[in-house]
Amino acid sequence: MPEKIREQIYLLPGLNRGKYPYCHSLLVEDELTVLIDPASDPEELKKIAARKKVDAIILSHYHEDHFWFSYLFPQAELWTPEPDAPALESLDRLLDEYRMQGERREIWRKILIEQYHYQARPVSRRLKEGDRISLGKMNIVVLHTPGHTPGHCCFHFPDQGLIYLADIDLSRFGPWYGDRGSDIDQTIKSVKRMAGLIDQTWIASHEQAVFEGNIEKEAQQYLSVIKQREDQLCALLKEPKTIEEIVAARIIYKKPREPKDFYEFGEWSMITKHLERLLKSGQIVRESGKYLFARSLSA
Ligand SMILES: [Zn+2]
Repeated sequence: MPEKIREQIYLLPGLNRGKYPYCHSLLVEDELTVLIDPASDPEELKKIAARKKVDAIILSHYHEDHFWFSYLFPQAELWTPEPDAPALESLDRLLDEYRMQGERREIWRKILIEQYHYQARPVSRRLKEGDRISLGKMNIVVLHTPGHTPGHCCFHFPDQGLIYLADIDLSRFGPWYGDRGSDIDQTIKSVKRMAGLIDQTWIASHEQAVFEGNIEKEAQQYLSVIKQREDQLCALLKEPKTIEEIVAARIIYKKPREPKDFYEFGEWSMITKHLERLLKSGQIVRESGKYLFARSLSA
């Protein structure tokens, strides 16, 4: 059921607490009606589609657990962050962003079309940092918060003291940064930037939807997961390891999960980002196909 959180702003809670592949959506009914990240609850979204003209779908980024039910609103314009727009206009580009090759790429091409109703759709408005979207009485200011994806954005309703955090979701799992253009350092910067804003109502995309006031503590806990992952990885690499051995250690996902290929690929995609970062800082080296811890960063 939609929950009114401000005048004309409704939270549509995602099924299964908004856990992947669902997320929490926002419906904003002003002179223009917009839906942010419509992957919450297909039945509620169908009701909205039946009773309302939705002028635009606004996506925080290109992931399927955010665009999923956009297809219920074929007349709506699509507004997305500029760097993420090409992946919504071309499925091959999305699969490139996911770094999927060979058989996996073809399996996912099918999943994205059949299960997530991916339709290459022209992006009518490409959002950039500081853009002010006027909906009539209400304004949304675009906060470009890259890291999760290159274009990932949060959406600020300045007059309502409300921020849609999208996938800076403050979950216990921690940040996700497995795509071609994902970046750990940008993630840290973006999370810190949001945590520096005070006195807001925050809407995260997954699990706990609403946070009130300040999110400094939650943000700190969220970012500490990155350090835990990196510390574990460095400890593991005291002995040289191949990428296969590192993936098998399940530093990111901890325990075996189903579907196996999906989570193993997720583990690989996240771990490669840590390896890149540690190679760059000189904390690890790569020798004859194996990764090895070299030194701690001096303080
Ligand atoms: Zn995402």
